[in-house]
Amino acid sequence: MISLRGVRFRYPDNPEGNAALSGIDLDIADGAFTAILGASGSGKSTLAKILDALLIPTAGTVSVDGLVIDSAARPTGELLMKVRSTVGIVFQNPVNQIIGDTVEQDVAYGPSNLGLDHAEIVRRTDAALRTMGLVELRLRNPAHLSGGQMQRLAIAGALAMGTRHIVLDESLSMLDPQGRDEVLANLRRLNREEGLGIIMISHDARDCAGCDRFIVLDKGRIAMEGSPEDLALKKDVLRALGVRTC
Ligand code: ADP
Ligand code: MG
Repeated sequence: MISLRGVRFRYPDNPEGNAALSGIDLDIADGAFTAILGASGSGKSTLAKILDALLIPTAGTVSVDGLVIDSAARPTGELLMKVRSTVGIVFQNPVNQIIGDTVEQDVAYGPSNLGLDHAEIVRRTDAALRTMGLVELRLRNPAHLSGGQMQRLAIAGALAMGTRHIVLDESLSMLDPQGRDEVLANLRRLNREEGLGIIMISHDARDCAGCDRFIVLDKGRIAMEGSPEDLALKKDVLRALGVRTC
């Protein structure tokens, strides 16, 4: 379970301007498929980084599976590491998240930094490659993969870390329709069969097919919340909030 209470965030180099997030209260149940929508600049990427403890709130608290980050207390390095392995994050441009020279090395990189023994690293890497359909590509140079394959590789890397929630920040936006479908199908299956929590962030409501619930951010606040049925019924409201529908 992920819970945010009164979360505010202001970038340090913007002390006088508007806060990027101004008072977010949000609960995300384990195994939910949640969409976070909103126009450019509405605070989506800031929220993604708060969920993964890459940013620490200026005010409020974030609780991730019982790991509590409170703006009033400086988090320890150990706490940050735990949150970052519980919540995986996949960014927009797959090329920027490649570390290894082969697909297999790339997946093994995260677990090898967790201090696990070799056999466990191999076990996790093999399981993640299988789950994401990358076994045949394991010795490939990641730079030569298609966009959809690269995003599947990024998800495999998060799975190998033991992540329970995965945040995708505009991760489908650079993919062609085939790559998009390929990644979405894998995510839906992981959600359904393995109970992995999916937090899909997009400015485009079409990336949210199959979500249980969506929220819309506007100027750092939650402006709207709804069920998948509302996505179709409230197209005008969504468009007014800068969300692309179809
Ligand atoms: P989105 O992902 O929805 O486009 P962001 O979270 O990136 O929104 O941005 C929210 C607000 O914070 C915007 O006003 C943006 O200009 C500002 N912002 C984002 N990143 C930074 C940064 N590194 N430094 C200062 N302001 C930033
Ligand atoms: Mg963004």
